[in-house]
Amino acid sequence: MQSPQATPELRASAVGGTDRAPLGFDVIIAGCGPSGAMLAAELRLHDVRVLVLEKETEPVSFVRIVGLHIRSLELMAMRGLLDRLLERGRRRPAGGFFAAIDKPAPRGLDSAHAYLLGIPQPVIERLLEEHATRLGAQVRRGCAVAGFEQDDEGVTVELADGERLRSRYLVGCDGARSTVRKRLGVGFPGEPSRNDTLMGEMHVGAPQEEIAAKVSEISRTNRRFRLQPFGEGVYSVLVPAAGVADRTEPPTLEDFRQQLRAIAGTDFGVHSPRWLSRFGDATRLAERYRVGRVLLAGDAAHIHPPTGGQGLNLGVQDAVNLGWKLAAHIRGRAPETLLDTYHSERHPVAADVLDNTRAQTELHSTDPGPQAVRRLLTELMDIDEVNRRLIEKITAIDIRYDFGDGPDLLGRRMRDIDVKDGRLYTLLHHGRGLLLDRTEHLTTGAWSDRVDHVADPTAALDAPCVLLRPDGHIAWIGDNQQDLNTHLSRWFGHPSP
Ligand SMILES: Cc1cc2nc3c(=O)[nH]c(=O)nc-3n(C[C@H](O)[C@H](O)[C@H](O)COP(=O)(O)OP(=O)(O)OC[C@H]3O[C@@H](n4cnc5c(N)ncnc54)[C@H](O)[C@@H]3O)c2cc1C
Repeated sequence: MQSPQATPELRASAVGGTDRAPLGFDVIIAGCGPSGAMLAAELRLHDVRVLVLEKETEPVSFVRIVGLHIRSLELMAMRGLLDRLLERGRRRPAGGFFAAIDKPAPRGLDSAHAYLLGIPQPVIERLLEEHATRLGAQVRRGCAVAGFEQDDEGVTVELADGERLRSRYLVGCDGARSTVRKRLGVGFPGEPSRNDTLMGEMHVGAPQEEIAAKVSEISRTNRRFRLQPFGEGVYSVLVPAAGVADRTEPPTLEDFRQQLRAIAGTDFGVHSPRWLSRFGDATRLAERYRVGRVLLAGDAAHIHPPTGGQGLNLGVQDAVNLGWKLAAHIRGRAPETLLDTYHSERHPVAADVLDNTRAQTELHSTDPGPQAVRRLLTELMDIDEVNRRLIEKITAIDIRYDFGDGPDLLGRRMRDIDVKDGRLYTLLHHGRGLLLDRTEHLTTGAWSDRVDHVADPTAALDAPCVLLRPDGHIAWIGDNQQDLNTHLSRWFGHPSP
């Protein structure tokens, strides 16, 4: 059955039982959360034909305020989205995020966007979906991916209603319970959830002063207890859950009432919920991010507790790492090994995030041992280098991909700087490579159709010339044309004739 949103192009691609029908799309993405929408947009920058299948008929409506950290803000600036996000969010200082230990950010963080942006997740999702569709991605809502089969030419994707669609690649951005990951048979090792938390928005009957007094008393020893006024008598409520019998069942208002009574001695007269939700602290990482023509990104590839606010950031950064590589592969330009660098670069980054959330979770425990470690770390964070290391980790500006031997800058992301015609990140809006050149004798030559060249002898660079990938990471540093050509070929494929 076709969705009402199906376009003529899409109808032509439905195969109705014949697996080797024409490849209607280059890439099908399962899931239009932040990772899926960002990936769709990145692929469209390179004219890849993209279809996003989203099981929900409407975008999410419940408001969860999330934090966009420095590296994600930089990526948004690199794609021309930052101003729109800044209008809709609240800037906060970048410090105080590691295990919520209250320390200011160290001075002189190496970024033009050294702050945190607090913003509702639905706003980010809407903006990224609009960005993707404006660039030409098709999004079909109410379409759940139920299964798929891959062959040497492409992937046949089966929807829950039996419809079949063909594409060259499939990317599972379908969240923590990813159908794509499960059907792919990729292991998801790690730890199951030990502590579940109820979260929701609801009206409250008790007076504000009574609530404030209880919250201040309980939250001293219980870091998962919060009732925060949201306006018009509505409160955002966070309370530890009792054991969860069935994770597929959503929580009820009665679950909230029982837990509030158990912990606070009163349920504060909660009623008329706007939405109710639950999250756990399971920590898991997919063993592989790619099996043939099927890839995983975002929560489909990694899950961890929300402490430090890194999950959405990690998924969006996966998408920006993968998009240009998959596009180059589809165009037949990428060396075979390029697509595999998605796993080799991003898997260790996620493993590191999982580890830092494990550490933070321990530091949130109210047991005497972890509390003693917390006090010690709080003291150590007065040392600027310790504080800096932790902030750089949480905000993902510490990442250095392994591109082989070379100066420390190699493999790191380039910060936004002034260049002769404006800002560096503005030059990356179209997702192309960039040669930022102070030498005045280098050229992008036979790669100029995919790599821009900015000759600027006055650019504030600690190097004669840098080659930037579309994700802003430094792929080469030097001043020798032959060496540059080797690296242009490594990252951007064969030279044009
Ligand atoms: C309380 C809490 C606070 C958080 N705070 C932060 C924070 O401050 N900062 C941060 O970075 N992260 C935070 N996170 C994590 C963040 O919300 C997730 O990491 C993020 O939503 C992951 O994005 P995603 O696109 O990978 O997956 P999802 O957001 O889960 O999106 C997956 C999409 O796929 C769809 N889908 C599922 N199955 C199918 C299917 N079979 N077919 C088609 N579509 C399908 C779903 O409907 C959904 O739209 C928080 C999480 C929680 C629970």
